Order: sequence, then C-alpha cells, then structure tokens
Amino acid sequence: MQRDILIVGCGIFGAAIAWALGLRGLGHRVLIVDRQTPASGATSRAAGLVTQVRPDPSLQALAGETLAAMDLLQTRFGEDVGRHRVGALHVGSQAQHEALAQMLRVCTAAGIRGQWQDKAQALAQSPWLNPDAFDIATFYPDECFVDPYLLSSAYLRGALQMGAKLRLDTRVAHITHQAGAVTGVALEDGTVLPAGIVVNAAGAWSNLLSAELGLPLPMAPVRSQYWITERAPDFSPGTPIVFLTDIRAYARPEVGALLFGIRESAPAVAAPRELPENLEGFVFDAADPHGWGNLAEAFEPLSHHFPAIERLGMAHYITGPSNYTPDGQPIVGASAAIAGLLVATGCNGSGITYSAGVGRLIAELIGGETPFVDASRLDPARALHIDPFSRAFLQACAHARATKSTG
Ligand SMILES: Cc1cc2nc3c(=O)[nH]c(=O)nc-3n(C[C@H](O)[C@H](O)[C@H](O)COP(=O)(O)OP(=O)(O)OC[C@H]3O[C@@H](n4cnc5c(N)ncnc54)[C@H](O)[C@@H]3O)c2cc1C
Repeated sequence: MQRDILIVGCGIFGAAIAWALGLRGLGHRVLIVDRQTPASGATSRAAGLVTQVRPDPSLQALAGETLAAMDLLQTRFGEDVGRHRVGALHVGSQAQHEALAQMLRVCTAAGIRGQWQDKAQALAQSPWLNPDAFDIATFYPDECFVDPYLLSSAYLRGALQMGAKLRLDTRVAHITHQAGAVTGVALEDGTVLPAGIVVNAAGAWSNLLSAELGLPLPMAPVRSQYWITERAPDFSPGTPIVFLTDIRAYARPEVGALLFGIRESAPAVAAPRELPENLEGFVFDAADPHGWGNLAEAFEPLSHHFPAIERLGMAHYITGPSNYTPDGQPIVGASAAIAGLLVATGCNGSGITYSAGVGRLIAELIGGETPFVDASRLDPARALHIDPFSRAFLQACAHARATKSTG
C-alpha cells in the first residue's frame, strides 16, 4: 500500500507537483489542500516570464521542463496556457559584452537556441528602445511568457483528471510527525488529516510550517513588483521580452502596452507572519503602496532606455511576495530528519519558470528515482543555523533580490 501524499498549498508549485505525480502514476492517493482558492497567492500576481536563459544548468533544466510541460498540456490535455513565444532580447552596452557572450556560450552548450542580434534588427523588433542606450544584443527565440493563472490551472485540472483531490478552505496549522516520520497535518479547527508524505508548498508562508519542525527554510518574502503602461503603438503583441542588462530591468508586451520591472536597491521585505492569508489589497509599504519611490530611483536610467516612459501614464501596478534565498537557489527536496517531509518553495522570482521542473523533481524524490537535475544545492536543510524570521536574515534575502541579475 502506497503512502498517501498531502500537498499543502495550491499555488503553481502545489499544482505542478500533483500534476507530475499523476503523470508518473505511482499509485499514491494525492490530496492538495489550500485555505484560499487555487493560484490566489503569488502565482496569480506573476509577470509570467518563462526564461531558460540562466547561467546555472540545474535551473536551466527546471525551466526546460516547464517549456516541455506546456507542450504536453496543450497536445495531451488540450490546455491553452496563454503562451506567447515572443523570444527574449538581452541588450547592453559594450561593458556587457563578456557577460552576454558567456551566457550565449553556456546556453548554446546546453542546447538553448540563441544568437547575437544585429542592433538594427533588435530595434526593428523593439521599436520602443532608445538606439543610444545599447550597443549589443543577443536573441533567444524560445523564451516566452504565459498567463500564470492559466498554467497553474492547467496543471491542476490535469492532476484532478489523473485522480488527485483538492480540498479548499483548509488551513494547515501544523505538519505532524512521530518517531522521525511524517504522520499528516493538523488543521486549525483541530481536525487531523493523516498522510505518510507531506509536501510543504505553502509559498511565502512555508516557513511558518517548517521552522517549528526544526527545518528553517533559508528564504523570505520580498516585494516583487511591476508596472504596466498605457497602450501605445510601439508595443505590438509580437515584440520580444527585453532584458536591459546594464540597469537590470526587464520589459515585455502586454496587450498593446509595456509591462516592466526593475531591480530595487533596497527592496521591501516582510516576515511571513506579517503577510495576510488573502493577499488581495496587501501592500508591503503603506507609505508607498505603489512602489513610486523605487520607480523614481530607477527612472533616469530607465527613461534613457525607454524614452516613452516620460510621457506614458501607468495603467496598472502589481505587487506580491516572492521568496528570495541568499544563495539564489530554490528550496526543493526531502528532509533527512523527518521521513516523508518534502519542501518546494524559495522561487527567487522564478516559480512560474521552474514549476514543472519542481513538480518533476518532487515526484522523482517520492518515487525513489534519480533526480533529473543536481538537487544538492536545493536542499531544504542547507542552512539549519539561521533564524528565518530575524531582521538580519530578512535583509539578506532582500539583498539577494537587489543583486540578482536579469533573467
Ligand atoms: C509581482 C511578481 C512577479 C513575478 N513574476 C514572475 C515571472 O515573471 N516569472 C516567474 O517565473 N515567476 C515570477 N514570480 C514568482 C512566482 O509568482 C512565484 O514563484 C510562484 O507563484 C510561487 O508559487 P507557490 O506555489 O510557491 O506560491 P503561491 O502561489 O503563493 O501558493 C502558495 C499557496 O499556499 C497556500 N497556503 C499557505 N499556507 C497555507 C496553510 N497553512 N494552509 C493551507 N494553505 C496554505 C496559500 O493560500 C497559497 O495558495 C513573480 C512573483 C511576483 C510576486
């Protein structure tokens, strides 16, 4: 008899894990629980970039799995995940030459299609760019963006079709264990749901369940944010994602407008207990709810690359918690101390991108298979000495976002 699997959290990680378990057909009963509605946490707030162009082979492989999953979801499950295969331009000054060349070498070696792009061609693709703001460009045609809600829902529907069950309005208060093995979860109303395997995929709230088990997760919820301009003719839907490598900003088309994000020098960070269960209307900084301070700080270099920003109004602002880790690696794996306890979180602003890879990795660990990526750096127990709620640690996670490169 296989042990029952209980997944805490029905964001994109929980849904992708249930989907990957269904595909493997290991024979476990799978239950996903969430206290809110599916994808109502960070997932529905994401900008939806799915980018494989990264220096780290394991992270490339996690992303590659998501690209493959989108194909499978479409062909086998008939799902439209709102995928826009627009490709990504990485533009920069001559000072970025070695960095762009190195990324191109690493990606080419990994089989990711990419090439140097002629400046005139880059401008033809992205007419909103200031020609004086960059000298060189690389282009990766397979990079894309998706509708994160649709992708997450597609995983979930697939998982439910393959036998998983979903239970909403279900608040997990504790993960329970006895004699070194998981026994299930205790709900806030006192009910106990037994399970031999529990996957903590509770997003920004994961540490509230893990830390009390002696497994502090090295991550904290840092403010992630982006703005969407008014519509303008230069932002046709087919224009690529653009990474402005000198200023570590990105942009992509969004129904006739431009969606863009920046790297703040001092991002706001919250302790998990400060986050409400329902993120609707949540802001990190009541004094600056729309991140104008951060945008003002980035405005001059941004307007140099993107001159139209000076005349365009901002139609939308989206913000939410993204779980950053000081080492930039996600947190995916099994606890060595408590049998049957697994964790999947710590996305570093890339959880949509890694989703199917994380699902596959967790399914492989549960099935006792050799992981398809080197998972040693993703180990949930890699920083057992930290206090994940201390101000100093929260600041270290905010710093990780501030210094993260684009992509
Ligand atoms: C503004 C913004 C832009 C982003 N842009 C991108 C992008 O372009 N590309 C990309 O790849 N990633 C992006 N991300 C990151 C991405 O959104 C996250 O990595 C991803 O959504 C994390 O998914 P998750 O399932 O771990 O968490 P969530 O979606 O937050 O799901 C966690 C779930 O757990 C539930 N839960 C928590 N505690 C409990 C409990 N005790 N009991 C029951 N249920 C519980 C919550 O209700 C929630 O539904 C962005 C994030 C933000 C905020």
